[in-house]
Amino acid sequence: MIPLEEARAYVLDRCPAPVAGVVDLRGALGLVLSGPVGAVEAVPPFDNTAMDGFAVRAADTAGAPVGLFIVGTLAAGSVSDREVGVGEAMRIMTGAPMPPGADAVVMVERTSASADDTIVTVEIEVPVGNHVRCAGEDLRSGQEVFAAGTVLGPAHIGVLASIGCRSVAVYRHLRVGVLSTGDELVTGTPGPGQIRDSNRDALLALLEDSGITGVDLGLVADDEREIEQAILAGAADCDAVITSGGVSMGDFDYVKVVLNRIGDMRWMQVAIRPAKPLAFGLVDGTPVFGLPGNPVSSMVSFELFARPALLSMLGNTRLDRLRVTAVSDGGLGRHPDGKVHFARVMVGYENGRFRVSTAGGQHSHQLSAMAAADGLAVIPDGDGIPDGGEVEVLLLR
Ligand code: AMP
Ligand code: MG
Repeated sequence: MIPLEEARAYVLDRCPAPVAGVVDLRGALGLVLSGPVGAVEAVPPFDNTAMDGFAVRAADTAGAPVGLFIVGTLAAGSVSDREVGVGEAMRIMTGAPMPPGADAVVMVERTSASADDTIVTVEIEVPVGNHVRCAGEDLRSGQEVFAAGTVLGPAHIGVLASIGCRSVAVYRHLRVGVLSTGDELVTGTPGPGQIRDSNRDALLALLEDSGITGVDLGLVADDEREIEQAILAGAADCDAVITSGGVSMGDFDYVKVVLNRIGDMRWMQVAIRPAKPLAFGLVDGTPVFGLPGNPVSSMVSFELFARPALLSMLGNTRLDRLRVTAVSDGGLGRHPDGKVHFARVMVGYENGRFRVSTAGGQHSHQLSAMAAADGLAVIPDGDGIPDGGEVEVLLLR
């Protein structure tokens, strides 16, 4: 067996570098900037009011309450060339540009207009700049807005839209193929000895959850020729291929046999539980992840190897889930076996501490515990974590 870190480094070292391209802003969510973005416009582009109210000269409010002559109304989207003179006020709506002469805004709640709407009584004294949003207060023209390597979230998309950046230089999106292998698997109603293929759907969902497009490469029997054809087709069409099943010690585990023949592969026994067997390598330059078949193992293997590798191919520098230290409620039992265990746990937060408890049956076919899990507790080799003991947890969501 090899340590997790060695297997992970092997995989990450062999994944291709991210490929830069230009995409429409609408398709950029979750992608990583391949270069810095600069602002060619200021945001806001002009001084404007943050409140509905009256634009005034701050000096005129000294000794409030004071009466000022109302000289017009300014809606958002319109511009006034009428100056607000001494003793005057202009009614103004949120977002409207400050009229010339005015240097402050009094919110409408602190004013009252005369019945004939000619005079406004301002109830409070306000300083220069009161409720004024200055040009460039969010972004100055010419400044760097986002550095290369920024992962674009919804707010980044909003900022880019605010400076008119409709296409962005990012690392390209990935399409990743998913293939199931096993004579016992069916897509329809299982017959005697057969089960439904669930890994394909779970792995496609894991990809989608990571912002990656999954490509369904289907289900193939434990047959060398069929497996070879499916992997070659997937490698030609996709940026990476994920298979499940056929990498263990069974008589019909042909995935590792095929990969050995057609790829630059390494078959590893990683000192972890679940997900000990892993085949990884390149087929015609395309990374292929041969994940184990047990449903929990394939998902954990995706988490530990495929997800960080694919994130690196998308240009991310942060590849890992957050890890926190938690208190174990009820303990997490295990026996020494030379492996690090990843237990499926539910995670809560109470009185300033994370707390974990088992999410259910911990065998690698018990997928319902994976569904209930918020995290994977990392249990080092030994006798497990006692009730109330501390354990490191990798947060899955
Ligand atoms: P294998 O790694 O091919 O020996 O498979 C290990 C276990 O996982 C066996 O019990 C398989 O039936 C099961 N298994 C393999 N692939 C899938 C799949 N796609 N969906 C559900 N179970 C699977
Ligand atoms: Mg199998």
